[in-house]
Amino acid sequence: MALAVAGPAAAEYPERPITMVVPFSAGGPTDTVSRLVAESMGKDLGQQIVIENVGGAGGTLGSSRVAKADPDGYTLLLHHIGMSTAATLYRKLPYDTLNAFDYVGLVTDVPMTLVARSDFEPKDLKGLIEYAKANKDKVTYANAGVGAASHLCGMLFMSKIETQLTTVPYKGTGPAMTDLVGKQVDMMCDQTTNTTNQIKAGKIKAYAATTKERVSSLPDLPTAEEAGLPGFEVGIWHGIYAPKGTPPEIVKKLSASLQKALKDPTVVQRFADLGTKPSTDAEATPEALKAKLTSEIERWAPVIKAAGVYAD
Ligand code: ASP
Repeated sequence: MALAVAGPAAAEYPERPITMVVPFSAGGPTDTVSRLVAESMGKDLGQQIVIENVGGAGGTLGSSRVAKADPDGYTLLLHHIGMSTAATLYRKLPYDTLNAFDYVGLVTDVPMTLVARSDFEPKDLKGLIEYAKANKDKVTYANAGVGAASHLCGMLFMSKIETQLTTVPYKGTGPAMTDLVGKQVDMMCDQTTNTTNQIKAGKIKAYAATTKERVSSLPDLPTAEEAGLPGFEVGIWHGIYAPKGTPPEIVKKLSASLQKALKDPTVVQRFADLGTKPSTDAEATPEALKAKLTSEIERWAPVIKAAGVYAD
């Protein structure tokens, strides 16, 4: 690991473009959130934040790349809930989740939606459950690899209906969505930041939102509870990280910039269009992200151990 930059270098930061690693493919939900926030933060910081998509292994390849990067503020990571679940799901993670990063802040909590190809036979969630049980060897479920939000959501769905479907992994749900729209796979569970526009355009079918309340951008879509599957709830929180050892003054600058970006009217509007809300100032802090990651690792570890799902 390189030595952290101190003093004057941190005061002048940033002097060149910053790379923000997104651990999934371009065009997917994590990518969408990252590009919106990066553009606004870049304007505020006076340097462009360039997105680098490093997809694969449920987000762990991208996280690993940032864990090993120089802690100089020029390489950041925007990742979601998968950061916490991978800590238990992966037997051999190439980084120590709680000790390999500094924390910038929470970004947003995005609802998920259970969706399918537009011509999928089941008409509603109850019909989908019956169909999946009766056709479990035939139904294909797309996800972005073990530990991805789409994987977790699918895992919860399958355990709730006590039926294992065939999963088809991608490097991100951007390409998975292309295949769902093209009717190459049957179903998926993904963030509203990727599904809202496709649902509204009628390119895919939606069965339920995984939230307590209906999603504001999709008011006609029932919650899972309303549609007959209570307890099927999952929200996908996102955070920005830097490699461990990044100078505290730089982290502070980044947190302040993140807080501004989350109040930028363009970001607020686009988030609202996609059914999500920006984190508050208190949430967009290193302390809040660290606390969230720690508590989420604790929350998910027993669930994953009980389910007995692991990856190498
Ligand atoms: N968010 C998606 C997932 O975790 C992946 C992506 O952003 O492409 O399933």
